[in-house]
Amino acid sequence: MFNHKAIPPLRPHVFDPNNLGTPDSYWQSELSNSLEWTPPAGSPIVVVAAHPDDETFGAGGLIHTCARAGHPVSVITVTDGEGARTDLPEPGVIRRRELRAALSCLSGRYIQWHRLGVPDGNVALHDSFVERAIKTRLPPEATLIAPFEHDGHPDHEAVARICLTIGRRRGVTVLRYPIWAWHHFAPPAWRNTEFVRFELNAEAQLAKARAIRCFASQLDASFSPPVMPPHVLSYFTRPYEAFLT
Ligand SMILES: [Zn+2]
Repeated sequence: MFNHKAIPPLRPHVFDPNNLGTPDSYWQSELSNSLEWTPPAGSPIVVVAAHPDDETFGAGGLIHTCARAGHPVSVITVTDGEGARTDLPEPGVIRRRELRAALSCLSGRYIQWHRLGVPDGNVALHDSFVERAIKTRLPPEATLIAPFEHDGHPDHEAVARICLTIGRRRGVTVLRYPIWAWHHFAPPAWRNTEFVRFELNAEAQLAKARAIRCFASQLDASFSPPVMPPHVLSYFTRPYEAFLT
């Protein structure tokens, strides 16, 4: 079980670029003993993301590997992420374009993409709509890949809660991928047994690295500080992806 008592009472919901967070080496040693996981053969994989790019950072290698292996793979983006980079004209359009490019990098095969278009930052206000929308796009026997319910971002946490509710009601396996929690938390807050590792071969790592580069608006170093700074990116270059079960 997740150690809720170890969560700081005032978790940052706004990323502090001056705080370098928990070094990835701490996480790597913590995760080294976690169990390997692979999805059931041929089962549909549905990856839900609060914003375009979360699916790639958290599960890009899984998307690539499963699409290549013939699993039906779909991605649901709940918002367009228009709240980041409001200095740009039409940031939601830019992020959708970046996502399409990233999904092409992840697989030459067809990946279904569903856009829900909920206002960025307000997922919790639209939870009934989001729950219905995900349910109608969830094939039988699917594995649901969701954000983490304590990730430190209100949209990530709202999407995670919705997915966990669906999982309970439908008996669906829900695995969650941290994004900002890698930065905010330190390993003592977690127990090894909660994590599983999905190993990425060299091809999957390369496809994920290429896909991440498609999100130029989030990596742009001329926008100071970048939305996704290098020390946070380091969590997403591991030769595996870690999910909470
Ligand atoms: Zn996000």
